[in-house]
This record gives sequence, structure tokens and C-alpha cells, in this order.
Amino acid sequence: MKKPGLTVKVLTGLILGAIVGLLINLFTPGSFEAINTYLFVPLGQIFLSLINMLVVPLVLFSIILGTAGLGDPAKLGRIGIKTVSYFLVTTTIAIIIGLSLAAVIQPGLAGDFDLSSAEFEVTKAPSVGETLLDMIPTNPIAALGEGNMLQIIVFAVFIGLALTALGEKTKGLVHLFEQGNDVMMYLVGVVMKFAPYGTFGLIATAVGSQGFSAMKAMGSYMLVILAALFVHAIFTYGGTIKFLAKKNPIWFFKNFAPAMSVGFSTSSSTATLPISMEVAQDKLGVPKSVSSFVQPLGATINMDGTAIMQGVATMFIAQAYGVELSTMDLVTVVLTAVLASIGTAGVPGVGLIMLAMVLSSVGLPPAGIGLVIGIDRLLDMTRTAINISGDAACAVYVAETEKNRELRTKNMNA
Ligand code: ASP
Repeated sequence: MKKPGLTVKVLTGLILGAIVGLLINLFTPGSFEAINTYLFVPLGQIFLSLINMLVVPLVLFSIILGTAGLGDPAKLGRIGIKTVSYFLVTTTIAIIIGLSLAAVIQPGLAGDFDLSSAEFEVTKAPSVGETLLDMIPTNPIAALGEGNMLQIIVFAVFIGLALTALGEKTKGLVHLFEQGNDVMMYLVGVVMKFAPYGTFGLIATAVGSQGFSAMKAMGSYMLVILAALFVHAIFTYGGTIKFLAKKNPIWFFKNFAPAMSVGFSTSSSTATLPISMEVAQDKLGVPKSVSSFVQPLGATINMDGTAIMQGVATMFIAQAYGVELSTMDLVTVVLTAVLASIGTAGVPGVGLIMLAMVLSSVGLPPAGIGLVIGIDRLLDMTRTAINISGDAACAVYVAETEKNRELRTKNMNA
């Protein structure tokens, strides 16, 4: 008999986790605390720590090699522009889908929301200008220690460029990074074996500790977000794969499913990175040099799912507070949500903190976040799965167009 593949195993862990969490939540809520502390949390935490352990060295090695592997800086520039433009365009499409669905379905008018008890402590999010200026690490070792992704990416690109420029002279160092990268990828494979148990624990905790009564009141808000995420995945990513990469969207989603499940259960694009890179390289045939450049960058700055939530939440809060948003306001929301999603770190819950920036840009009270925070956990899981799919779709698109370009150049020279 054929052994079940990784996708089946991870999905089984996910579904079982949801069922077990739900059953305990509904029938023996009193026993949840103990089972959670001694079973679900350790399973989830071991898995999370294991993959987080690999993120920083993997990103460092793979971006150095990716940059060096691209050869000339012109190619890096071309891929960089293609990637960042793709990220900006798709994030804008994402918010427009979110805003439009929320404007039509009007989830903020679907019930009486207790605005007086809505509370949210605004922690100051760094401005986008600050984030961009902060990209250059003054101390790369500190950047690695803190896991500051943008700084690590910039540092690694510089090293990669230097290795290309120095060529033969630094061959030994390139070799060392290659071996380092191989070791990390090997470990990703090992950690993935634990993924079904880890996802089981993480999902059981998330579902088991969820307050379902809060969910009922917020049902239409949640449905609008889920619908927008779905539409974006099918049309924007499906369209990318079909029309830009000329591949089959079903092939894409089927192969990328294990990474999506891990994104779903960890709620963190960054933590999922080692796995989404492995899946893209191994199952979607994205060359290492492209994957290691596009995906870490995407996990840090490209958050379409987050942008969708921010669009819908802004509309929802405006409706609940009875505020009419003008066309100019909507344009402002689109622009600030693009910036907010760039500034959102790929860890759980940050998208909601950045929402404060979007709300303030059109004069809505950030306290409105208090209305949606209670049910954000499940939405965070779903939007993270979409966030990382956008990075993978971009990687496939860049890989295919680069491959075709090389073929054309070869034919012209032949
Ligand atoms: N959890 C999301 C991610 O890691 C970010 C967010 O929307 O909070 O992709």
C-alpha cells in the first residue's frame, strides 16, 4: 500500500486538531486547560520552535547564494523590480476586493455592536519611512540575533553581490554557504516530519480556546473576510499561475497545500518560510536562486491576506460607528493599507496592530479594533495561508518568465 504523503498527513493533523479542539470546547470546556497545557501546547510549541530555529540561518544562506547565483546585478535588479511590482499590484487588488465585498455585504450593519466597550490599546507601529530607513543594518550580527528579516535580507544581498564581484577568489566561501544551506534544507525536511503533530497541537489550542459566542455576532464580518480571501486566491493567484506563468492553478494549490496548512496553523509567514521555500523548490520547481530571493522578501513585505482583513475591518468599523467614507477616504485606505501590510511583520496578530494606522488615516477611532480582536485568531490563520501563497505565486511567475527569457536569448544566439 502507498504511504500517505506529507500533504495528507499535515491535513489530517489539522482536521483532527480542529475536531478535538472543538469537541473539548463544546463538551468538556473545564478540562481544556489541563489537556492544552500538557498536550496541545507542547506539541505546537516544539514544532514552532524547531522551524523558527531554522529561519534566520536559512534566510541568510539562501539569499547570499540566491544573489550570487543570479550572476549579474542586472538580473537581480530585473527580478527585484518584477517581484516588488507584483507584490504592490496584488496587495492593491487584495484591498480593493476586501473593501468592495464589505461595501456590498455591509457586515457592520448586521448587528448592534457595543461601541462603548470597544477598547484597544494602540501601541505605536513604526512608520513605513522608519521601516525603510531601518533596512540597512548598522550591526549585522545584532540583526541576525534579533531576527530582523529586512535587515538580514539587505545584508545577505550585499554579501551575495560581493561574492559575485570577487568571483574565483571567494569560491571557498560560496562553497561553505552552499553546504550551510544544504544542512538547513536537510533539517527542514526532518522538522517537516513533525509537522502533522505540530499542526494538530496548534490548531487544537486555537480552536479549543476560541470563544464561539463572540463568533456568532461577528459571523458576517468573518464571512466577508473569508470570501475575499477565497476570491483573491482563486482569481489573483489562479490568474497569475494560469496567465502569467502559463501553468495549471490546480497543480499550484495542490502542491503548495502542505505549506498553506503550516501557515494556517502557525499564523506566521516568517515561521512558515523554511517550509514554503522547500515546497516551492521541491514541488513547484522554482529554482533555488529565485525562491530564496522572492519568498523571504515576500514573507516580510507581501501580505495580501492581511491587507484584505484591513480593508474589510476598516469598512466594518466605519459602518458600525455610522461613519460614511468618501471616495477620497477609500483611496487613502487603499494606500495606507498597502503601506501597513508592507510594515506588518510576519508573526501572529501584527496585522491588527497595523490596522490602527489605517483607521487613523481616515479619522476612525483605533478603539474600533476592540470590536474585531476577539475573533481575530482564526482569521489570522486563514490570512497567513493566503499571505504565503502570494509569495509562492510570485516565485512561480518570476521563475517561469525568467526561464522563458533565457530560452529566447538562447534561441536568438543559436
Ligand atoms: N500573521 C500574519 C502573517 O504572519 C500577519 C498578520 O496579518 O497579523 O503573515
